[in-house]
Amino acid sequence: MKIYNKTIKPGEECTVQIPVANLPSGTEIDLFAHVYRSKVKGPTILLTGGVHGDEINGVEIVRRAAQDKLFSSLLCGSVITVPLLNVYGFINFSRGFPDGKDVNRGFPGTKNGSLSSRIAHTFTNYILPAADLAIDFHTGGKSIYNFPQSRYTAEDPESYRLAQEMNMPCTLKSSLIPKSLRKTAFGKEIPMVVFEGGESLRIDDYSVNEGLRAINNVLVQRGMIKGEVNNVESHSFLKKTWVRATRSGVVILEKKSGDFVKKGEILARITNPYNTYQSKVLSKVEGFIFGHNNNPVINKGDALFHIGYNLKN
Ligand SMILES: [Zn+2]
Repeated sequence: MKIYNKTIKPGEECTVQIPVANLPSGTEIDLFAHVYRSKVKGPTILLTGGVHGDEINGVEIVRRAAQDKLFSSLLCGSVITVPLLNVYGFINFSRGFPDGKDVNRGFPGTKNGSLSSRIAHTFTNYILPAADLAIDFHTGGKSIYNFPQSRYTAEDPESYRLAQEMNMPCTLKSSLIPKSLRKTAFGKEIPMVVFEGGESLRIDDYSVNEGLRAINNVLVQRGMIKGEVNNVESHSFLKKTWVRATRSGVVILEKKSGDFVKKGEILARITNPYNTYQSKVLSKVEGFIFGHNNNPVINKGDALFHIGYNLKN
């Protein structure tokens, strides 16, 4: 296996440091890939975190999997981890790059492009080709909490198989977003599942543990480690919808991610600091809340609850 300028032989474990660019101060920014190889042939799984620099749960899941020595005694195959792709966003507490770009809308990137484009190019050319399958760990965006979930590519049965093996509490099919990492992987016939859990700039133990359970489950089922598959009840939906704020104000949530709701059930109440009104937010469907907004100050039309419905059995 070759990553950047380094050849990693079966049975070896190493870290590959790939220089990407320099900060204006001159400080070098590098991409780190950690490689764990068994002597026995098998699949290569790539685990990435921090594609969005403020989505810390993903970074923490990949880091903790290494700390827990999940990859130290592989029975076959290889694991490549990139705990932090967007170094810039990580140190600036932001989703994107200093140039305002979202790297997950800039794949496969270009060699002489913007910062985000160069990171995407480095990753796409030097790390991604070594993978047979991949899980990309994310969280909800700013103030949006996502119940631990996997998002697979409908057109790719291997991506669905991977999501099934992960066995997240919520399994969703997701269309391919242009210029996303998952679309680039799909183009290279590398099945990829996006994990979502928790919200940005927060460590959520439940989501981190669910991410670790997903990695364990996949490694066990692919015959790469000894151990047991730990499964929970998983919900899969054919449809999803956002329930939005019916007016601006302060929102008091009555339901949250992980709750089943009936059509017409009260999800939240919206009031204002002067108590001059109070309105209810009702569910439009019978379904399962798999994401909610934790920001108490909202404007009319803001997304409040992400609800999956038409349960798939
Ligand atoms: Zn993300």
